[in-house]
Amino acid sequence: MESIIGLCKRRGFIFASSEIYGGYNGFFDYGPLGVELRNNIKNIWWRDMVQRRDDIVGLDSSIIMHPDIWKASGHVDGFSDPMVDCKESKLRYRADQLFIYPVILDDTSAGYIAVVEGTDLNTRIKQAKKLRDSLGNKQAKLDESQLDSEGTEITELDEAQRAVTLGPDAKDIGTLTEPREFKLMFETKVGPLADQSAVAYLRPETAQGIFANYKNIVDTGRVKIPFGIAQIGKAFRNEITPRNFIFRSREFEQMEIEYFISPDADWKTLHREWLDTCINWLESIGIPRDQVSEDVHAEDKLAFYSQATTDLMFEFPHGKQELWGIACRSDYDLGQHQKHSGKSMEIFDEAQKKKYIPHVIEPSLGVDRTLLAVLTTAYDEDEIPNDKGDVEKRTVLRFSPKIAPYKAAIFPLVKNKPELVEIAEKLYRKLQKRWNVFYDASGAIGRRYRRQDEIGTPYGITIDFDTLEKDGTVTLRDRDTTEQTRLSEKALIQFLEEQIDA
Ligand code: ATP
Repeated sequence: MESIIGLCKRRGFIFASSEIYGGYNGFFDYGPLGVELRNNIKNIWWRDMVQRRDDIVGLDSSIIMHPDIWKASGHVDGFSDPMVDCKESKLRYRADQLFIYPVILDDTSAGYIAVVEGTDLNTRIKQAKKLRDSLGNKQAKLDESQLDSEGTEITELDEAQRAVTLGPDAKDIGTLTEPREFKLMFETKVGPLADQSAVAYLRPETAQGIFANYKNIVDTGRVKIPFGIAQIGKAFRNEITPRNFIFRSREFEQMEIEYFISPDADWKTLHREWLDTCINWLESIGIPRDQVSEDVHAEDKLAFYSQATTDLMFEFPHGKQELWGIACRSDYDLGQHQKHSGKSMEIFDEAQKKKYIPHVIEPSLGVDRTLLAVLTTAYDEDEIPNDKGDVEKRTVLRFSPKIAPYKAAIFPLVKNKPELVEIAEKLYRKLQKRWNVFYDASGAIGRRYRRQDEIGTPYGITIDFDTLEKDGTVTLRDRDTTEQTRLSEKALIQFLEEQIDA
């Protein structure tokens, strides 16, 4: 993760928000290369999920909506995470991410350590020694075997046990509070009144904008069951512990689909089909299938309205975590909006000759998490020969040409030969009309290639003396293999088309 964060900052992909003021936890800014990568991910998703399908239409709803929408959806009352405070360090933790290990000193139970999910055994042992110190029992023999277990959630502890628990960032025992619910929606006020009636929310998901517009689209969009509505947009959650770079932030973007089906449909098969569609899509943008796994939520842990939820998990640098949630949400959301708004959410199904509120399958994907998964997969370090023939280490981002910020870089071999520069600039202007390409005339050619490798440009195109004196062909250098081939301009454009626009 450190290498990826360093590269993102150094080459202008991602910056901490408000950096000149010391940063702002949970917010990020995307620089010149980051915004290209991000747009490419969103555009390809939109193209594949909306434009290249006959059964899905698009939507762009407002971020702030009528507050009653969030009452109907259950967010006002229920969208919260359990939180634990540390009275000493003033830090906050998500209760479901704090894990407890019993500490045995001299064969007797001495207390507990609380550590953040994913903390390794060595750190747990260090914490246990800290607990031993804080109990003033420095000589005691520590039984490490209990620390090598799975741990339990902090919610399992009672008051007396919490009193002998050492928090992750505390020096003294007993500083962690009882878990309490922390509301995740950001509040704001709309209009000139300052009272409670003006309270509104920044949306914590884009999905409710889809449900709120479902009726408009049914009435105007000539859609018939089964059909989907897709939306890409910002979402905001006041996460208790934003961390792991852009994995969990407070402002992020989602790409969501609500796919409406008949209540009589074989939802299990459709759910499976959606899982496969999503895995195939990830593969198409360069995320290998073997790095994606499925986490099927246990039936007794599902929300009461949910029939099934499976998360697609990805091996992020900080561990295996949710990338894409694919849930079967029955008719819960539309039913709630029918109840709260008084407007019918029924559709007449011509094929079945009956009216009903459709059920829904919801694939919900984060743009930022996809971008982190793409960066994780693409980041590599290898060794290649430099201009002098010596082997050199290089950092390379192996982006698929489809999503790479720059598709190709065009170089005149030398910059002091006007004829070469002229051809290179002409080719650059021509390619720039179709794709985002880069022009670079300065420095040794090997160094110029390397600069592009580091930002993931898949192809280098060099105009050299053979172009000028012989046959007009150019050299195409492949980022991953570093192999070079000569191609005519026509063949070059055809090749780029196949790689980028497929
Ligand atoms: P988590 O359990 O990680 O908090 P969630 O189950 O609450 O996630 P959903 O409500 O299912 O997440 O949101 C759908 C998708 O939106 C997630 O799969 C993820 O890709 C993205 N997402 C959710 N919360 C965040 C966040 N704070 N930062 C970045 N992306 C997020």
